[in-house]
Amino acid sequence: MTEAAVTPAQNRDQPIKASEIDPKFKFELQKIHGSEKILKCFQCGACTSTCPVARYSDSYRPRTLIHMAQLGLRDRVLKNDTLWLCAACFTCTDRCPQDVEVAAVIRVFRNLAAEKGCVPQVFKDQTSSLLESGYAYKIPELRIKKRESQGLPPLPKGNSENVKKTLKGVKFIEKIQKPSGEQTNGQ
Ligand code: SF4
Ligand code: SF4
Repeated sequence: MTEAAVTPAQNRDQPIKASEIDPKFKFELQKIHGSEKILKCFQCGACTSTCPVARYSDSYRPRTLIHMAQLGLRDRVLKNDTLWLCAACFTCTDRCPQDVEVAAVIRVFRNLAAEKGCVPQVFKDQTSSLLESGYAYKIPELRIKKRESQGLPPLPKGNSENVKKTLKGVKFIEKIQKPSGEQTNGQ
């Protein structure tokens, strides 16, 4: 994603420096809709063990992300590529014995990451494409010609104006245009 993104290996292997710890982070999270119960997590691991993404990923671990947030590792959480792997299936939320809304917590992390411009390039590219054509992916000219040659009707026109209004409404465009890797802990 970004140059300053923290790789899963760094998250796992790098020793924690005192300067990385932001003790206010967990209290901020407690005030945000969706992550209010983050301190109730007692690290049982049920979320990770039931997560379909974690099953196929060596690095995505919702339990670990929550633990890092509890420890105040703001940058390690918000600049973490794996945040964006969550499929928002809510299985973890259903399984959490502590009623932590795990899927919502991940959404909160993503929103905070986007506020700081920490959005993977692939989503930035999709946004540009949506704004340009109304489609998340640019349809290659070759495929359009192939459709014509097969006698298929033209693809419906994407409504990029509506997309623009929506993205502007949630200030997404300006958020993703922020320089990559902005400091997220105010240091
Ligand atoms: S299932 Fe709930 S309590 Fe257990 S590790 Fe996940 S968030 Fe924490
Ligand atoms: S919502 Fe995300 S973290 Fe939770 S089980 Fe589904 S993919 Fe995993």
